[in-house]
Amino acid sequence: MEQILNIKAREILDSRGFPTLEVDMQLSNGSFGRASVPSGKSTGTKEAVESRDIHVKRFGGKGVTSAVGNVEQVLFPALKGKAFATQEDLDQSLIELDGTPDKRHLGANAILGCSLAFARATANAKKVPLVRHLASLYEATDLTLPVPMMNVINGGKHADSGIATQEFMLVPHGAHSAAEAVWMGAETYQALRELLKTKGYRVSVGDEGGFAPHLNSTEEALEILTSAIEKAGYVAGEQISLGIDFAANDFYRNGMYWFEGQRWTAEKMTDYCIGLAKKFPVVSIEDGLAEDDWDGWIYHTTRLNDAGLQCVGDDIFVTNARIFQDGIDKGVANAILIKLNQIGTLTETFETMRLAKKSGYRTVVSHRSGETDDAFIADFAVATGAGQMKAGAPARGERAAKYNQLIRLEEELQSVLLARELYARH
Ligand code: PGA
Ligand code: ZN
Repeated sequence: MEQILNIKAREILDSRGFPTLEVDMQLSNGSFGRASVPSGKSTGTKEAVESRDIHVKRFGGKGVTSAVGNVEQVLFPALKGKAFATQEDLDQSLIELDGTPDKRHLGANAILGCSLAFARATANAKKVPLVRHLASLYEATDLTLPVPMMNVINGGKHADSGIATQEFMLVPHGAHSAAEAVWMGAETYQALRELLKTKGYRVSVGDEGGFAPHLNSTEEALEILTSAIEKAGYVAGEQISLGIDFAANDFYRNGMYWFEGQRWTAEKMTDYCIGLAKKFPVVSIEDGLAEDDWDGWIYHTTRLNDAGLQCVGDDIFVTNARIFQDGIDKGVANAILIKLNQIGTLTETFETMRLAKKSGYRTVVSHRSGETDDAFIADFAVATGAGQMKAGAPARGERAAKYNQLIRLEEELQSVLLARELYARH
């Protein structure tokens, strides 16, 4: 069993040009692990809390020198020279050292950075690839390559496109391999650029690398996307379908949904979602309602279930097993978005994944809108057999890093297949 020899943390740039945390860990046999932490913008209110320099002017309070200090001056002295038999033991120590339910004392970024760096260092100590190490920690029986969900039109908080809907995703479930799925998405992304240009729209991009044209409505976006799929030579709905993340927290006020000039109840918002899926090849709807609207969600889920749609909970569950269990008991959603930094340790994220599997919920492993070139989530999605991974557009280095890692993992693992049976009915 190796001891923790050294932990070093630093501020690095994220994809938006803000500071984020990177952690290096060294074990007593010289094994090394490095991990960086992403950051969200359209966050759920119950997410684990990042440590940021909120009282400092520099970077408008977005610096993470506080998190660097917490890693180097609090966590490292407490962990130094200790040997942890398992990832779970290390994560438990991190949770106890923080001592708060939402990790606000030391920061979920400080804790997650250490948790993931330890996983990488341990994989290296065992001389196994990260994906194999994660699969053994998860006690995985069914490794699969996730179907990518590629966000190619950005709205909401992620762009100044003026579209209330946050994400429009390509779901290339008709592919026979992960590499083919990535190429199908990328070809459609290029076709979409040409189509937008022809229609006189701008092709500048938003935070997640998707285009941010000033479209008139969500319907127009879905229309153009369906055309782009066909222009790229694919059959919409058969080979490539569409996913939407409304991130509805953003337009929910006083119990109503203020959407595209309308003021809607949860029922009306749900009718609208079902209507979209009738008109366009939409297979997945994420956060169609807001995190506080639990009664609405129960109704919404029943309707989406009846329509055969995937209903994904992101802000409402925030990868938190306790909140998720409540949702399962009440019949909220049929799928969960999984973000490591919403909960803050690898072990707790595994726990939420296991709960989803056990309860018949689908899973989507996800990046954040503020990312780095760290592709940990690709290995994580494969190791846990998540089935789906959303990592933004098939463009921009920090997004491409995740899809490229899927291509490599597919090559390395050979017999592991794309989880296309999830969408078999299409
Ligand atoms: P965020 O958005 O990373 O900005 O929170 C992603 C999402 O809502 O899925
Ligand atoms: Zn979301």
